[in-house]
Parts: sequence; C-alpha cells; structure tokens
Amino acid sequence: MTEEIKKEEVHLNFLEEIIEADLQSGKYKSIVTRFPPEPNGYLHLGHASSICLNFGLTQKYPGNTNLRFDDTNPVTEDTEYVESIKDDIRWLGFTWKHELYASDYFDTLYEYAIDLIKKGLAYVDDSTSEEMAMMKGTPTEAGRNSKYRDRTIDENLELFRKMKDGAFEDGTRTLRAKIDMAHINMLMRDPVLYRIKHAHHHRTGDKWCIYPMYDMAHGQSDSIENITHSICTLEFVPHRELYDWLIEKLNIYPSQQYEFARRNINYTVTSKRKLLQLVNEGHVAGWDDPRMPTISGLRRRGYTPESIREFCNRIGIAKRENIVDVGLLEFCVREHLNRIAFRRMVVFDPVKIIITNYTGFGELLASENNPEDQSTGSRGIPFGKELFIERDDFMEDPPKKYFRLAPGQMVRLKSAYIIKCDEVIKDVNGDITELHCTYIPESKSGNDTSGINVKGTLHWVTAAKAVEVEVREYDRLFKVENPSGGEGDFKDYINPYSLKIVKGFAEPAIMDAKLSDRFQFMRKGYYCLDKDSTDTKLVFNRTVTLKDAWAKEVKKG
Ligand code: ATP
Ligand code: MG
Repeated sequence: MTEEIKKEEVHLNFLEEIIEADLQSGKYKSIVTRFPPEPNGYLHLGHASSICLNFGLTQKYPGNTNLRFDDTNPVTEDTEYVESIKDDIRWLGFTWKHELYASDYFDTLYEYAIDLIKKGLAYVDDSTSEEMAMMKGTPTEAGRNSKYRDRTIDENLELFRKMKDGAFEDGTRTLRAKIDMAHINMLMRDPVLYRIKHAHHHRTGDKWCIYPMYDMAHGQSDSIENITHSICTLEFVPHRELYDWLIEKLNIYPSQQYEFARRNINYTVTSKRKLLQLVNEGHVAGWDDPRMPTISGLRRRGYTPESIREFCNRIGIAKRENIVDVGLLEFCVREHLNRIAFRRMVVFDPVKIIITNYTGFGELLASENNPEDQSTGSRGIPFGKELFIERDDFMEDPPKKYFRLAPGQMVRLKSAYIIKCDEVIKDVNGDITELHCTYIPESKSGNDTSGINVKGTLHWVTAAKAVEVEVREYDRLFKVENPSGGEGDFKDYINPYSLKIVKGFAEPAIMDAKLSDRFQFMRKGYYCLDKDSTDTKLVFNRTVTLKDAWAKEVKKG
C-alpha cells in the first residue's frame, strides 16, 4: 500500500500539469491562487482540502496565495466567521500573501457594471424573480426576452443609479447582462448581475443597498488580484462561460477558472448551511464541538494540522465527486499521534489489586514518555500496595490462550513488576471487589532477573495516587454513510450515541497536561485535554481509538 501511495505522489495532478505547462511556455513567471471563503460559517474538511490545494500549489511553484473573503451577501455574513477562518488557516500551517475582501471592490464592481451598461451589454429589468424564472425557458427550449431588455443606455444608467441610491425596494429591479435568451447554457440567458438588498453589511455598513451576484463578483475579484489560476469546485463548470464572457467584455486581467471535485466525507456533512443547523438546533455544543467536521472541531478533538494536511494530500484532487472514507482521516491522525503522543496510563473501569507481599513506600518507577521519540525522556510512576487494573483485564474462568490476569496466572504490569493472582475476593452478591496478588521483586522492568516469561502486559495505576478525570468518547455524528443522500432530512440520521462520558483513573503525571499536549492512554487510544477542564477537574477528549473499531465490526459482520 505504501508503495502505491509513494508512486501516486510523484504523479502530477491535473492542475500541476496545467501550471507546469504554463510556467514552461512562459505564459506566467509565477502563479497567484486564492482561497475565497464566504464568511457565513466555520471552515470544514472540504475547505481544508481546498486550502491545501491552493496554498500547496504556491509552495510548490513560484507564486503566492491570497485569502479573499467572498463577502458579497450581507445577510449571512459575520465578523466572527472572518476571525475563525483566519485562525483555522493559520492553524493548518498556511500563510496568505494578502487578506482581501470582495466588499472592498464594491466601488470597482459598480464601475464595471456602468461600463457594461454603456457598452449596451447590461440592462435594468423590472421583472420579478418569478417572472424571470418563467421566461428563462428550459435546457431544450429557448427563453423569452424581457420587455425591459431594449431600454436605452441612458435610461439604464439612470435606473441603475437610482437602484444604488435606494429609490427602489428589494426585489423590484435587477441589473442583467444582455447576452442571449436562447443560449444553450442557461446561465448565459441574461444572468442577473446586481440585486437590490437593503441590508447591513458586516464591513460596508449601510453604504450599499445593491449587491453584486456571485458571477459579477468572483471573476472580477480574481481579475483585480491578478489571480492566474482560480480553482473552484465542479458546480461552477457552467459558470465558466460567463466568467470568461465578463472578463472579455470588461477587458480586464484574464484570470482563468479551473474546477475540481468537491470533497465529501462519509458519516458527516460538509456544508456550512447544514453545520449551522446542527449548531443552531442544539444537536452539537457549537461549531467547535469535537464531533463536528469543522477545522475547529477537529482541533478541539485532538487532530493535528499535520494529520489533516496528510489526509488532504492523500485524497488529492479529482475531477469526479466521490465520498472519502473517514477511516483514512483517522488513519492519518493515528499515525501522527503515535509519533508525538505522551504515553500515560489510565484505568477506566477499575478493579482493585492488593499486592499482599509489597512493603515498599513511595517507590517511583521510570517509564518512557514516548518509545517512538527518545528525546521526550521518561516520567516517574508511583507504585504501591493497592493498584487499579481494568475490570475486563481479569477473568475468573479464562479460556485457553488468555494472557491477562486470572487466578494462579501471571502478568506484567507495564513498567513495573510481574504479579500473580492468588485470591479473588467477592461481596455478598458475588461481585469481585478485590484481587489479592503477590509481586515478584526481581522482575522489575528494565532490571528483570526473575527469568520468568509472561505474555500479557497490563496498564495500571496506584489507587492512592490516581487522579479521577472525565473522558468524553465520541462516535460518528451520523448513523449512515451519506446522511445527505437519503430520503428526508439529514438530521433524521443523527447518531444519538455520538457522545459518551466516562470516568478514568489516571497516573499522577496527567496533572501536568496542557491543552497543546497529545496523549496515548495506553491500550486505549489517543486523547487530549479539553478546554472545559478546570483546576479541580480535568476533561479529556478521545481523538481516536488505537485501532479501527469500525473495520473490526464490519469484518465480524
Ligand atoms: P458550503 O456549502 O459548505 O458553504 P461553499 O463552497 O459554499 O461550501 P465557500 O466558503 O464558498 O463554501 O468555499 C470556499 C472555497 O472552499 C471554495 O473555493 C470552495 O470551492 C471550497 N470548498 C468548499 N467546500 C468544499 C468541499 N467540500 N470540497 C472541496 N472544496 C470545497
Ligand atoms: Mg458558498
């Protein structure tokens, strides 16, 4: 598998091929790309893929990438989103050349509109949107010309100025391009360029009551910024003709649009509109809920920027839509966390062990912080007479080849000693309350002269020094692979068991945990501290289990 992945990497993707040809032919000396989010929500994994693509290209080739807020729709946009977007891009590890706003171009775009009117290429239409829709025709049938289509240039200039000055109500007039109502591309049938919207804009305030439509803003913004390769998702393929038409008629810098397939991930939704619903309707605790596929949710969950970039690189770019398995994302984060996470021992469902022959006091055992990275050193783990192990690491009546603890059987306690279970103590209900064991003093890890070989190694903590912590275990947010693809509302498929809160008993070193630390709770999974932690209560998020539990479930059938 790794062989194959390596081979993939040396192949250029189709955009790299285009760019290399453009650089070789001398069409460009350097390239300019942009990432153009609409600030109407938090960024999600789909955006991460677009960010890695746009910024990645200008890391590989001479050039740079702009961050442009596509803020032409005053109603849904907000400064909170602008700030979160910037945070997320920085956290992912990318730096933009210029921070730009489409709204900064409103004056220029207005001048462009005037230019089109003067060239006889745009007109003010008094039709309602319903009338326009009725006259649009169908893919096989030509549309009909609006009765306002042949207004004189002067009349159009006058009316457009009045639109801008606030003389008309929302929806009563639009500015339309005058192209061809019989055009085979429906988007070329006199598309609307400007609409009236008396709304407050998060940056321009109440200065404007007309706003440019996507097609009248996006390509023009690209052009103003001398974007060479304007990369967007496939649904904009039909817009490319209009993109080129407007640039040609306005005679402005010829940016070029290229399309790649939108990235969708299974068991979740990647649409800001849908994610907003989950937030507003309280299905999750916020945009950064660790179950969300947002960058901020993944960050809080314990994902690293490296793992998300690796995921985006591995899925690469495609020309056809497909759904990416979230298992690949989990694979990428496991791989990275294995290299960087501090190992800690945490017992979740404890049963008490009494080491009957132990007389030591305050003994600290050394244990590596991370066997994958010797530079992280080691920590001290207190040993003691009373310990906790996981209840399910003991079986009173074990099957053959059971290498964990059982009556008369020996196991190694990680970084400590070999112990043997001598006696099982139960309460009146027959439930196990304690396991009485003896330890082998010569079997200390790192200095084992006992000559005893055991097959099982268990994690454990010393009861008296254990720190009780809250652990939040997350599962898929949706029960089905494609919640948006089925019948009915995507919210019908929400997994009601996506959050489980459990207790853990951790070794004392956990008290030093910082928000930026990553942990492997041995034999359990990868975890990070959550911002809900207080001085008296530590809260951990489970980033991912050690192994892919879902793959196992599927195999078991
Ligand atoms: P949403 O439907 O979630 O709002 P969007 O495409 O409307 O997505 P924008 O803020 O307009 O969101 O997107 C900014 C950039 O990110 C665009 O260039 C867009 O093509 C890209 N993008 C958004 N979603 C995805 C996705 N799922 N896969 C790849 N690129 C995406
Ligand atoms: Mg959008």
